Amino acid sequence: MKNWVRLGAYPIVFGFTAFAQLLLLQANVSLWPYAMAIASTGLVMVALLERAFPYELSWNRDHADTLPDIFHAIFSLGFIFTSIEIVQVASAYLPVATVWPLAWPLWVQVIAAGLIIDFGLWFMHWLSHRNNFLWNLHALHHSAQRLYWLNGERRHPLSAILLAGPGTFLAIVLGAPAEVVGCWYSIIAVHLAFQHANLDYTVGPLKNILGVAEVHRWHHKKEYEDAQVNFGEFWMIWDQIFGTFHHTTMRVEPGDVGMRENMPTTYWKQIIWPFQRTS
Ligand SMILES: [Zn+2]
Repeated sequence: MKNWVRLGAYPIVFGFTAFAQLLLLQANVSLWPYAMAIASTGLVMVALLERAFPYELSWNRDHADTLPDIFHAIFSLGFIFTSIEIVQVASAYLPVATVWPLAWPLWVQVIAAGLIIDFGLWFMHWLSHRNNFLWNLHALHHSAQRLYWLNGERRHPLSAILLAGPGTFLAIVLGAPAEVVGCWYSIIAVHLAFQHANLDYTVGPLKNILGVAEVHRWHHKKEYEDAQVNFGEFWMIWDQIFGTFHHTTMRVEPGDVGMRENMPTTYWKQIIWPFQRTS
C-alpha cells in the first residue's frame, strides 16, 4: 500500500484534479464554485495522505504554525479562487493585444498561459532571494520549521502579489482569457500543496522537470546558501535552463528546514514583520 501511495499519489490526485479542471473549462460552465470544489478536494486528499504516509512523522505535529498558516491560506487561496475576476477587472484597464491563440484547444491554452505565469513566478522567486525588500516579504514562506501541505499557501499577501503579478500581467496583455488563467491557478493550488507536502511520494525522473517535494524540500534548507536553488513553482525547466537546479539523494531532516532568524508566531506580527526588519 505504502509503495502504491508513494508512486501513485501525485499522478492520481494531481492528475485527476488537473484533468477535472480542464474538463470543467471545456464544458464552458461557470467555474465558480466547481473549480474551487475540485481544488479543495485535492487539497484535502494531500492533507489526509500526509497524515497516513508522512515523509517525516514529527512534521505532522503543530509547530505553533497551524493557526497562522490557516489565515495565510485563506488569503492565498482567496487570490487563486478569484483569479478569474481579478483578470477580468485587470483586462478592462490594460492594453490587451490580440495575439493570443484563441483557436488552440483550451487545454493547450492553459498550458501556454501556465508557462508564461510559471516563468514569471520563477523569475520573481529568484529575485526575492536577491533583493532585500522582496526577501523580507518572502522570508515568511521560508520561516516554516516543517514542511506540510499548508506551506504552499504560507505567503505574505504582498509577496504573493509580487510573485504572481508579472507573469499574470504578461498573460493578460497577450490576451489570455480570464477563464484560461483561472483554470491554471486552480490546477496549481493542488500542486503547491504537493510541492510542500509532508508526504512520502516520488515522481521518479519527472522530478527533473516538475517542482515536487523531492526537489523543493532542499529550497527550504535553513542554511541560506543551500536554499539558492530550485526556485521553480510548477516547472523545473527554468532552473534547468538558468543553472539553479539541484538534486541530491541526501534526505532533508527536520532540523534542516526553516530560517536562521526567528519569525513571530502570530498572524498579524508575521504580516508586519517585513516592514520592521531593517537588515
Ligand atoms: Zn524561496
